[in-house]
Amino acid sequence: MSPIVYTPLYAEWLALRDKLTTPVIRTGRSRGKPTQGPTLIAGVAGALVDGIAPGDVIVASEIRHLGRTAPGEVGRVVECSGAELVAGELRRLGMAVHVGPLVTTDHIVDSVAERAALAAAGAIAVDTESGLLVGEDGQSVVVRVVVDTPGRPLRRVGMPVRGARGLMQLRRTAPAIDAWAAATGEREVLLATPRSFCAGVERAIDTVERALERFGAPVYVRRQIVHNRHVVNDLEGRGAVFVEELDAVPEGSLVVLAAHGVAPAVRQQADERHLKVIDATCPLVAKVHHEVRRYAARDTTVVLIGHPDHEEVIGTVGEAPEHVIVVANPAEAETVQLPDPTRVGYAMQTTLAVEEPAETAAVLRRRFPALTGPRRDDICYATSNRQAGVRAIAAQSDLVIVLGSQNSSNSKRLAEVAEAAGTRAVLVDDAGELELDLLAGAERIGITAGASAPPELVDHLIRCLSGLGPVSVTENGTLTEDVRFALPKEVSQP
Ligand code: SF4
Repeated sequence: MSPIVYTPLYAEWLALRDKLTTPVIRTGRSRGKPTQGPTLIAGVAGALVDGIAPGDVIVASEIRHLGRTAPGEVGRVVECSGAELVAGELRRLGMAVHVGPLVTTDHIVDSVAERAALAAAGAIAVDTESGLLVGEDGQSVVVRVVVDTPGRPLRRVGMPVRGARGLMQLRRTAPAIDAWAAATGEREVLLATPRSFCAGVERAIDTVERALERFGAPVYVRRQIVHNRHVVNDLEGRGAVFVEELDAVPEGSLVVLAAHGVAPAVRQQADERHLKVIDATCPLVAKVHHEVRRYAARDTTVVLIGHPDHEEVIGTVGEAPEHVIVVANPAEAETVQLPDPTRVGYAMQTTLAVEEPAETAAVLRRRFPALTGPRRDDICYATSNRQAGVRAIAAQSDLVIVLGSQNSSNSKRLAEVAEAAGTRAVLVDDAGELELDLLAGAERIGITAGASAPPELVDHLIRCLSGLGPVSVTENGTLTEDVRFALPKEVSQP
């Protein structure tokens, strides 16, 4: 079904008709029957809550059509599944965008009392047409520019100017609307298995949650507990306070050390400040620290294969700075100089791409025959499994979407592995960051998530894609992981 844009009012139609390449039809209040397939309803609306200004854009997460319902009744509710995708596109155009329920009434709402009553039920904006137009299939998107607000109602001086500015702003939404139209269509989603949280990340998050339950807020956390914006925001909302360094933690307070591990100097600083420390370092990272300490105790140089700026590597180097040399890739391994080539071992960052560090280790082995190393490379099970999972779907996909934050090493590697298989890949924190242009023509989408990305983000992305057209989902692979790590004693013992 071809995408189509509906504008209820003539002025709204005029604002968009010469800016869009997508067909745009003026409907009046109703086109007689609800829409079907990908439809975008564009126009102006009134805001119901403070914090939304004239000129801001509303993208409806759902439409509540009150019609002639009695006060307090909800009426027809229709989900708009693609809202976050379009909202993200509008934000990238520099607009202030609010996503939330929009209510359609059978009369113009302007009184403070009526706006407040609708807002109390959870709606953020009101119009008189969208509920009459949206279909039930979730493929409707509603984009409305705010022209009146509780503080600047319709019947107030300045309304004509606000109306004209609102329509100008509506014109500026055209590139996002065309991008939405180009991205619509039926598609297949291939889900990589396994994906999302690993045992180390679950342990770290559980540790902070249990600490909050047991000791109450605030619980300080040094650095991001795991490299994911959503996880950090969620814990922040529940009372965790994230700090860069321990000098920002009040003396004697409770602090959790993040999953990536820290140098001994950080623990020492915690002692000096009399902090109560709960260590959420992943046991697999702790194992690499232990290897480095063991080499250093034998006066052996450790070549640490990894990214020198990554927190995990910084923490590991800190175990024995005078004994550790960081090497990022095979080229650096070709030139690295050691104080005593007969006393050398190697260790690895846990979240690297599987192939390159193996090559780097091979170069070191050739140059330094005395090289010793771990029985199995240090790249953790979760990193290897997720890379195998994304490799398995990449070749069958037109585009691979990796959910994860830009500072998540293992998530970045997943995108690289997909690219290495010859498929376009993109790393995004959530659906809102996904540029719609990437979806145009992509009928088979591979999806995975880094070890620090919550599984809900995958479900949400699929729901958003279903707002662009019918989606069939195939789970690729059957590998299940049963690794579990015990929680730190401070939060697990009675
Ligand atoms: Fe531990 Fe691996 Fe997860 Fe990192 S990715 S927290 S090393 S299990």
